[in-house]
Amino acid sequence: PERPPGAGPAPALPGGALTEAEAKSLAAAYGVPVTRGVLAQDADAAVAAAEAIGFPVVLKGVSRAVVHKSDLGLVKLNLADAAAVRAAFAALPDIPLDGVLVQEMARGEAELILGARHEPGFGPLVLVGTGGVLVEVLRDVQVAPAPLRPADAEAMLRRLALWPVLAGVRGRPALDVAAAVDALVRLSWIAADLGPRLVEMDLNPILLRAVGGGAVAVDARATIH
Ligand code: ADP
Ligand code: MG
Repeated sequence: PERPPGAGPAPALPGGALTEAEAKSLAAAYGVPVTRGVLAQDADAAVAAAEAIGFPVVLKGVSRAVVHKSDLGLVKLNLADAAAVRAAFAALPDIPLDGVLVQEMARGEAELILGARHEPGFGPLVLVGTGGVLVEVLRDVQVAPAPLRPADAEAMLRRLALWPVLAGVRGRPALDVAAAVDALVRLSWIAADLGPRLVEMDLNPILLRAVGGGAVAVDARATIH
């Protein structure tokens, strides 16, 4: 497989569980589009960040110890103004946090999960599937060895139960499959380059827009040896 332009190298990474911001920096270093975000430590800083990013925004309480933020009430979506940001900040649960990420509120027509891991005794793998908070319930995933050619990535997408949604069904627009293919190929190069250092990584979800609209990862996590 041929490496896409601008895929890597990886930045210096701490071992262990990366924060969402660190995992997104790794994805961005390989050319995977990610949401813009700023880490804030208090409500005033969160409002200033939201004004700089532009409303609506998302607030996420982040901690290395937390894997599923929404389960704990740490994700506050679609905040339209400064008052909504202050109210959401005040409503965060009282648990130890590393900070509060203020992000652009992204839009998409479908949510995919893109994953990568090193399988001991086998090598680097990538995964794509129907994403979002229901991923474990839906189990619509395809796995392949990394790195991928674009044609391999597209074949994986075509095998998903979600494929008719990506292709456009019943008056819904066809989605930007080329952007999903590109993101999956780029993630496969992260898996190939990090090798056994990569325990696992996932972009869940990456939002896919209509053809020409691209894709953007709104969440990312990774564990590094
Ligand atoms: P979790 O740790 O629970 O997976 P996420 O960051 O994935 O937390 O947020 C939960 C859900 O909120 C996502 O699956 C997505 O639907 C939505 N979401 C999160 N961040 C954004 C964003 N920046 N823009 C739009 N939707 C978002
Ligand atoms: Mg998520």
